[in-house]
Parts: sequence; C-alpha cells; structure tokens
Amino acid sequence: MVVIEREKCTGCGRCARDCPVAAIEVKAKKAVAAEHCVHCGVCLRVCPEAALALPAAIQTEALTCTACPVRCAILPGYFGACRRYLNRGGELVRERELVFDLPESRPREKAIERPLLTGVGAGTAYPCCRPAPYIVQDMVDGVEVVTVVTEAPLSYSGVKLKIDTNFFIGVEGAVVRRRGRVVGRVETEEYGSKMLSIGGANLLTGKDGFLAARTIVEICNGEKVTLKVEGGATLELQVGKKPVINGIEDQKMRVGCGSATVGMFAAALARVVDEAIVLDHHVVGLLSEHFAGEYVGLKWSGVVPNARRSTRGRYFGAHGTGWGGTNIHDPRAAILEIKRELAWPGMKILVTETTGQQAALFVLDDALEPVAAELTPEIKEVVALISASCQEARVSAVYTGGTGGSARAGVTRYPLRLTEAVHAGEATLTIGGAPTFILPGGGINFLVDVEKVVPRAFTWVPTPATVAPVEYTMTREKYREMGGHLEQIVDLSRLKKEKRKQAKEAGKR
Ligand code: SF4
Ligand code: SF4
Repeated sequence: MVVIEREKCTGCGRCARDCPVAAIEVKAKKAVAAEHCVHCGVCLRVCPEAALALPAAIQTEALTCTACPVRCAILPGYFGACRRYLNRGGELVRERELVFDLPESRPREKAIERPLLTGVGAGTAYPCCRPAPYIVQDMVDGVEVVTVVTEAPLSYSGVKLKIDTNFFIGVEGAVVRRRGRVVGRVETEEYGSKMLSIGGANLLTGKDGFLAARTIVEICNGEKVTLKVEGGATLELQVGKKPVINGIEDQKMRVGCGSATVGMFAAALARVVDEAIVLDHHVVGLLSEHFAGEYVGLKWSGVVPNARRSTRGRYFGAHGTGWGGTNIHDPRAAILEIKRELAWPGMKILVTETTGQQAALFVLDDALEPVAAELTPEIKEVVALISASCQEARVSAVYTGGTGGSARAGVTRYPLRLTEAVHAGEATLTIGGAPTFILPGGGINFLVDVEKVVPRAFTWVPTPATVAPVEYTMTREKYREMGGHLEQIVDLSRLKKEKRKQAKEAGKR
C-alpha cells in the first residue's frame, strides 16, 4: 500500500477525497492507507505536501493489471482504480460481461451500419500496438462484415450538457465547479437551451483532472451531479430529467424567443388583449408593434417594454433570475413607459413568458396607469395554449471524444487508412452500439448521444482519461485493404458460444 510520511502529512484529506477505491482515510489528522490500495498514484498527485510515495514492491497476492498505464496492483476480491478489472481468485477479469445486444434494434440500411457486438465489457488491450481485444466477423445480408471493439481510454474527451431552460445559469465562459474544483465552462446558448462543456483534454490533464473525468463518466452513465457556475447558479443535473436550478425544478422549455412567441400566437393574443409583452432573456416580444401584430390588424399601442430595442416589436432582454430568464421579477416592471397620445383607458396589457408559466394582466385606468387585474378565462386559455406548445424541460448530454490517435493501432497497422475509411463511410464508428456524428476535417472526432449508448457504458482511468466502448465496423474486404489484424478475427457465433461457456463455468464457481 501507499507509503505515508506522517511528519509531512497535514491531514488535509485531498488523498482520501480523490482515491478511486476508497483506500485512504484521515484519522486523527493523519492519512492512513488501507490494504486494498491499488498503487494507482492518484493520491500522490493531489497531495500538496508530497507526503505520499508508492512502495518499492507490491503485496505478494496482488496481481498487476496491464490494461492501462496505471498498472494497478489488485488484491484478491478487489477492483482496480477504474472499477473494471477484478482480481477474482487470482485471475484478473473484466467484471462486466461483453455486451452483444445493441441498445436499439432498428433495421440496417447497409451491412456495415451497425456493429456485430458492442465494446462494452471488452476491456482494453494496452499498449496500443496490440490488436484490439475482440475482432469479430459475421455474414450480414450476404456480406462478410468485421467489427473491431475495445474500451478505449480517451484523454481527448468531454461531455456537452444541454439544459433546456430559460433560467439564468451564469455568463458564457464562466467556469463550472464541482465540489469547489473546476470541471468545465458555460458555453454559448443554443435555441432554448443553456450549454455546458465538461472536461476536455486540458482540464483532464490539469490539477482537477480526476474529478473532471469522474464527472464526465457519472453524467454519461445517467447519474445525478451537482455543479456550481462561478457567479451563477447551482445546478442539479441528471440526463433525461428536468434540471433543478437554484433548488427550483424547471418544467418547460420555451416555445421560442419572445418575438417568435408573438409570431406564433399573434392571432390568438390579439383576440383577447390589446397588447402583450412576452418576456425572454434573449428577445422580448411586443405584440402590437411586431410585424405579426400588424399582420393580425393591430397598431402600436404606445406601450414601451423594459428592454433594449432591436427592431420593430423585438427587444433584447437582460439576463437574470426573473420572468423568462430576464431581470424582471415584478411583471409591472415589464412596462417601461406608456405613450399617452396613443394609449387609451381600458387597454388590456398581458405580460407573460415564452413558456406561459407565469402571466399577469394590467388594465389602463382613466389616468392611463396600469392596474393589475385578474386574468379572464379567455386570456388564461391563450396562455395555456402557449404553455402547452412547449416541450418539457430536460437535461441531455453528448459525449465528445477523439479516437484518431493510438487507439487506431488496435484496429490496423496503417492508422491513416482507418481515419480515411471512417470519413469515406467505409468504416462505421459506433460508441456502445450508438451511432456517432464524425466531425469534418482531420482525425476521428465524434459526438454521441449518451442516451443511445448501452447503459452504464462509460468508465474512467486515473491517467486520467475517460474510457469509452468503441466499435469499428466494415466489410472484411475493407478490413484487409486497410491492413487489419486478420489473424485475430473470430466468428461471432463462436465467440458467443465461448462467452456462454465461460459464464456457465463462472456460475458454477
Ligand atoms: S495509491 Fe491510489 S488506491 Fe492507493 S491510496 Fe492512493 S489513490 Fe488510493
Ligand atoms: S485503472 Fe483499470 S485498466 Fe488501468 S491498471 Fe488499473 S485496473 Fe487496470
């Protein structure tokens, strides 16, 4: 186990916090290591006092895992740092069975479109010059197809989190922390969504890289994580669930910006009110001045909304924690000014959001002052129509990675040929059985929707890097042409039979 210099140790607890196998704890203000320490070295790298060192030798019963450069020393009954490899009675085994079934069973359009099996449970062949763990062939629609699978440690990896919400989360470029440490950044907004980037090569190799890798993996595996945007919100995020922002679960994704909402619902709004201000942190819409308002027969009412004018009926909102993600918390404050020469007593002004979740009505009195009034049933119906047109707010995630490096050596002796085949559509890259989008240009940089991947398919190693199940599928002819490891090919049916036999034997033990 790891050697601790007690005099140097200040009991700060960073080693315990980051140990991937919970093999170190702080007792009486000093770090104490447990027997099942795997010598992964994480604690050495996070200790500010250099109080830790790896021992010269490993315990006699421990096995050294060679599946990645970390080289864990694993005692019987224990896992390595990545929690993939287990010392089962003196034999190192990948604790998860190889997954043959694909997450989706839609029909193939071409023989190489889908892998013959997934890389989940395949393990890693390290160093990369060795052939991938499984190179498998089968006949698909009369074509000989080969799938090469591995679990590839990818230091060029991260996750893009898409949060469908109008809530303000923080300014673009702000750092995102987990447990006080930097794991990502706020990116530019997409239509109706706030985007976060977690991880990436430079954060993974930085001082908080272990936590960044762990965070990527937990997100991709569907676990809940709590993140804090510097100068912004606290986010509780779980893929497939509604986002919780500053303790409030958001319900709806906006139907569009304020201008788009006016555009879509101008006729319905004009039937029930004289004016509508649709609050949105991006574009606030003003019904009567908007071209859509004119189209349905309205003339500008003289109401000026509390936002910065862009073009007719379109105003830029200010970001904040108020209505529609603006800085307006009191709907009355949405009305900046009323031009007396145009307005009239009794004018009905609706203030609402692009999600229709909150709405308020003001009626001008004889002095042309807005007075709050109850929403009429007809107005409620239109607001409900806007709300019903919105999708549910949810969190989604796209794993991003680059397999254009050494991982190619497990597939072929000529790595460039694999890259070219992927870009030419002659080899298909899938991740845990899910289709990928390959970025244009050089390399094999891909995006994959984590919800389409085999569940709990991602892991991490403390190099640090995330580990993704990678599958390349192509015709056998193409595989031969690219200089593939033909001598390693096994038949799919034979492999399945072998795996069934192994599972049966393991069950007997
Ligand atoms: S070397 Fe790794 S397993 Fe051992 S105590 Fe340190 S972090 Fe934990
Ligand atoms: S991190 Fe995992 S793959 Fe790497 S040496 Fe340890 S057990 Fe093996």
